[in-house]
Amino acid sequence: MINIGWRFDNSYARLPHTFFAAMALNPVEEPKLVIVNEQLASTLGLNLTALHSEEALQEFAGNKSPIGSSPLAQAYAGHQFGHFNMLGDGRAILLGEHITAENERVDIQLKGAGRTPFSRGGDGRAALGPMLREYMISEAMYALGIPTTRSLAVVTTGEKIMREQALQGAILTRIAKSHLRVGTFQYAARWGTGEELKALADYAIERHFPALQHEEQCYMKLLEGVIERQAELLAKWQLVGFIHGVMNTDNMTISGETIDYGPCAFMDKYDPQTVFSSIDTQGRYAYQNQPNMAFWNLARFAESLLSLIHPDSEQAVEMAQRALRQFPKLYEANWLAGMRLKLGFITEEPQDIELIDELLQWMQANEADYTNTFRALTLGQVEENEAFKQWSSRWQERLQRQAQPLELVQQTMRQHNPAIIARNHRVEEALSAAEQGDLLPFQQLLKVLAQPFAYTDEQERYATLPPASSCTYKTFCGT
Ligand code: AMP
Ligand code: MG
Ligand code: MG
Repeated sequence: MINIGWRFDNSYARLPHTFFAAMALNPVEEPKLVIVNEQLASTLGLNLTALHSEEALQEFAGNKSPIGSSPLAQAYAGHQFGHFNMLGDGRAILLGEHITAENERVDIQLKGAGRTPFSRGGDGRAALGPMLREYMISEAMYALGIPTTRSLAVVTTGEKIMREQALQGAILTRIAKSHLRVGTFQYAARWGTGEELKALADYAIERHFPALQHEEQCYMKLLEGVIERQAELLAKWQLVGFIHGVMNTDNMTISGETIDYGPCAFMDKYDPQTVFSSIDTQGRYAYQNQPNMAFWNLARFAESLLSLIHPDSEQAVEMAQRALRQFPKLYEANWLAGMRLKLGFITEEPQDIELIDELLQWMQANEADYTNTFRALTLGQVEENEAFKQWSSRWQERLQRQAQPLELVQQTMRQHNPAIIARNHRVEEALSAAEQGDLLPFQQLLKVLAQPFAYTDEQERYATLPPASSCTYKTFCGT
């Protein structure tokens, strides 16, 4: 038998039963491999030659349980656009945790793997376009240095799924540090016993903050740790213009990884109010609101932990608030540090904030493309615009006030300003070709996105902007 190289050890399945439903797999008719991530497979310590085998295909399709796996659907709740609901994996199955060659523990999840006890009215399935979209954007985020779940494979199922029209069914194999969410804690706090909540918190600490084990006030420190990771993550999103689109509490991880690439997209022209998701009619998750929404979600996380933080509820609230107050400061500090690097500032000057704000204001007033403005600065190209030239000369003066050589400044800027991002029109182009069976544009784009800081000539054509009509770009989730 072909050995794919899985080493399963399923710690989540050892949690109290309230946290999951054990699953039998839901086989599909005629699975076909669309894409498999050899680079990721290799870091996971999998056997590369086995990835294209029939055995691997049957496993990626959910037709066969890998040896050592323990399939289950996770229970969780979540605030969706502010409304609290019981959710759970409605179309995903956690196969278990694989232990990599470096002894790291990662979740192996099949997304689109069929109905579970948490499916409610849904069919448990996913369409090819959105699964390839998640594959591409998550891998692009990884290449940008942003913590994220990753994508190992996409297969088609040979089955049609009914949406507004019939679409090809597909399954994504998702890799994550874990799928613990703010919503998992909300579920435990609402429906679990005190012991179950504690078991979950201990589990999260062991998995994501092992240094806190056996520390005093470890639950308060868990809260602080998650706040810190989310502040770092949100700053990274803002710095590259990433708009998640559906920052519900079930889509916020405890690990600090970006998760759930539904209606996400990268901002093109700089406008803080940008929203792409067709369902986000109020702009709740608009670009400029993302840090605030993360803060809101973290407050829900803190509420879930209150009984563990301190037996006296007033004291617990006070402690949680103290932790939460750090978020805006941590976020601002991360964002400012990142912006300085984007502009080549290796030293710190108090007036840097003004210079940054003025650039952003100029971009907004001139509808300048966010990524390409920083790209142009990195390449030393100056816009033919009076206001911009004035700003640019002050920027040059600022650069000259630091002792670092110009090469170091340029190198810093290249490392922090992507030459290319997953442009919406390019992504759509690649996805529609893939849906027609032509995977070449998808693979080409993927290759370019794997090296966003390379500044090669080949990337040039991927940096061009879409025709003006696509400014009303909309993303759809739930397919
Ligand atoms: P999301 O907005 O992608 O985070 O999904 C919210 C909830 O809807 C989760 O509990 C999903 O498992 C569930 N869900 C999404 N699509 C489906 C589907 N096709 N069938 C069943 N459940 C689904
Ligand atoms: Mg989700
Ligand atoms: Mg989703």
